[in-house]
Amino acid sequence: MARIMISPGRYVQGNGAIRLIGEEVKRLGSRVLVVGDRIALPLVREAAAKSFEKSGVTAQYETFGGECSMEEIDRLKDLAEAAGTEVVVGVGGGKTLDTAKAVAHFAGLPVVVAPTIASTDAPCSALSVIYTPEGVFERYLVLPRNPDLVLVDTGIVAKAPVRLLVSGMGDALATWFEADASARSYARNLPGGNSTEAALSLARLCYELLIEHGLRAKLAVEKGAVTEDVEKIVEANTLLSGLGFESGGLAAAHSVHNGLTALEETHHYYHGEKVAFGTVVQLVLENRSNEELEEVLSFCQSVGLPVTLRQIGITDASPEKIRRVAESSCAEGETIFNMPFPVTAEMVYDAILAADRIGEQYLA
Ligand SMILES: [Zn+2]
Repeated sequence: MARIMISPGRYVQGNGAIRLIGEEVKRLGSRVLVVGDRIALPLVREAAAKSFEKSGVTAQYETFGGECSMEEIDRLKDLAEAAGTEVVVGVGGGKTLDTAKAVAHFAGLPVVVAPTIASTDAPCSALSVIYTPEGVFERYLVLPRNPDLVLVDTGIVAKAPVRLLVSGMGDALATWFEADASARSYARNLPGGNSTEAALSLARLCYELLIEHGLRAKLAVEKGAVTEDVEKIVEANTLLSGLGFESGGLAAAHSVHNGLTALEETHHYYHGEKVAFGTVVQLVLENRSNEELEEVLSFCQSVGLPVTLRQIGITDASPEKIRRVAESSCAEGETIFNMPFPVTAEMVYDAILAADRIGEQYLA
């Protein structure tokens, strides 16, 4: 199988980076439709408008309807076409960005993605998750290319609730372990090839940055401050984790996350928080060394990521519930089958119970 790696066309990150949006977007076109959610749009609108004006870019602003559904995508696509849009710009969180990517794809236009939080590794990817208008998962829309530009203003990210940055670290924590497992089993990555040495190195670097700078970044963001630590963690959460998961591959941690969503009580917890616990489960499944497990547990405890079932809302962990989680983790098509050994629901059930017990012992 060939080695394949994909990435966004350009990545711009920095404190005040939103002020560069005009000159950055200008490379792609001079009539833009800016789609932003209710929280994000007011945060960037003034600075973005000034920047567009300075660069001679005409901008039209539209508030995102709230759900990344085909209905909303079609509405925005019609709007873009009627306005003679040359570039679609998405501003906000995951669903807004996924919608902008899909609108640009269906309208045949370039897309710029400007995340205002660093809570997942979705911004850089060539993927949109489509929901029904009621918010039920519908399907993955695999896009033919990654965003043309990803622009992250760390000054804005640092003002968002700290729990979002920490969740992004949870999502990023899984990246190295899943890429490593996928490489050892020669599993297909998202673009359908084997991983490159580059993708593996980026995934490894992502992990090292979390261990070195994670806690310090969290403390800085608690004060709304942008430091070098924050820059490194925003890059780890957004760029390195994004490239690492997409071109490295996913494995057990994300499947356990998906399994956990079968339980209603986990719904109040963020994606990255459930992925963090899923990572501990993967480490147990793999029988990783004490040193590796200890490093992950200590990191999670220091930044406040969950390592037990109780910490993701499962206070009554009955065998039936855990079996349901284990079974949906092993549903057909799940990335858990990218592990370098055969995995059964029984093994996952045992690994969840053991990981939870190890987590409880560690916190005691
Ligand atoms: Zn994820």
